[in-house]
Amino acid sequence: MQKCGISILGSTGSIGQNTLNVISQHQEMFEVIALSANTNVEKIFEQCHQFTPAFAVMAEPDAAQQLRVLLETSHLDIHVLSGEEGLCFIAQLEQVTKVVCAIVGSAGLLSTLSAVDAGKQILIANKEALVMAGDLLLERAANTGAILLPVDSEHNALFQCMPANYLTGKRPDGVSRLILTASGGPFLHASQEELRQVTPEMACKHPNWKMGKKITVDCATLMNKGLEVIEASKLFQMPPAAIDVIIHPQSIIHSLVEYLDGSQLAQLGTPDMRIPITHCLSWPERRTSGAKALSLTDIGQLEFLTPNEDKFKCLSLAYEAIHIGKAAPTVLNASNEVAVQAFLNKEMRFVQIATIIEKVLQKFFDLSAQTLDDILMADKLAREKTFNLIQSISH
Ligand code: NDP
Repeated sequence: MQKCGISILGSTGSIGQNTLNVISQHQEMFEVIALSANTNVEKIFEQCHQFTPAFAVMAEPDAAQQLRVLLETSHLDIHVLSGEEGLCFIAQLEQVTKVVCAIVGSAGLLSTLSAVDAGKQILIANKEALVMAGDLLLERAANTGAILLPVDSEHNALFQCMPANYLTGKRPDGVSRLILTASGGPFLHASQEELRQVTPEMACKHPNWKMGKKITVDCATLMNKGLEVIEASKLFQMPPAAIDVIIHPQSIIHSLVEYLDGSQLAQLGTPDMRIPITHCLSWPERRTSGAKALSLTDIGQLEFLTPNEDKFKCLSLAYEAIHIGKAAPTVLNASNEVAVQAFLNKEMRFVQIATIIEKVLQKFFDLSAQTLDDILMADKLAREKTFNLIQSISH
């Protein structure tokens, strides 16, 4: 049987490494054709040794040069490319069936669009691309036949609970509500005063999941859940009023689909990203993932709470952005990316993330998002404004 060719955009990150872990368990099924990273030469070099792809892309040209030298000295015949052009190229390779979109942030948008334009099966982890340009991605996917398979654990859970033969990009028949679960992050029970003292080190410790820094901070502010509400509304074409968020600190139920007759279907599993990744890699079949089997009797109790949107304002800002529509989700996402980076750089406080995003959203709530250029412009304006606001508070 012919192996399934895979390109991984963002192979050195948390999702990328988990994907390679699953692939290494099923080498007879999958062939890694291309890998990519931003600057992490050491990690991608290691991955090149293990998986011998035909192509490796470094977004940073200097890093690409370093990788070329390393590969040449170890006699590995791997073609190294760089920049956005390289990323878009490996998203469209003919010998690739599945493209794993696991770059963090808006940097993943254009390569994801390229994979969609080439009609690939897209394992979409890069939620920011869907938040920024979900309508555009789905419209183009409808034209090219590209299939978006959600890797994000909540959306993968929803996808698994959908009616038989359901594909993303259309409203599912008979479904009345989507219920996204959220762990609540490390500060679920923190007071406002305690939130003011949060450091990047504290925010980067997630109680249940091991992930990249940006998404871990997003989990702590609940912006991650806000982005996921937008992501769900795009992937499953459901109105935001039909998407609820509940706090479930154990992260065992990954989300639920409610049907018109009152049935709720849930997907459960241990908090291990190899489960949704394996589901998407194997789809529509099933394979082992290496994850520990879930034992409900070992867990004993599952809890559910209502999110506190006064304390975690980012969630209500995301609902607001989707209600406004147009480029508001793009603005929210861009502002959040800049604010989170500034918080990680210790240029502003944790509680200022929401305040700043709210100001930027107020300023740019009405920008158009009809074309890719509109979206990129909204992203740019929101970034500049956020940057200026951060400068003004840190001086
Ligand atoms: P990481 O920060 O761990 O990895 C990000 C990857 O993107 C790395 O390979 C990194 O390369 C690459 N990258 C970063 N910046 C650029 C750039 N400018 N151009 C090209 N490549 C770049 O992130 P995660 O794996 O945690 O998350 C990836 C995406 O998946 C995010 O959108 C996140 O929201 C989503 N997601 C993640 C989950 C998780 O469990 N981690 C769960 C659900 C969704 P380098 O290593 O060189 O910096």
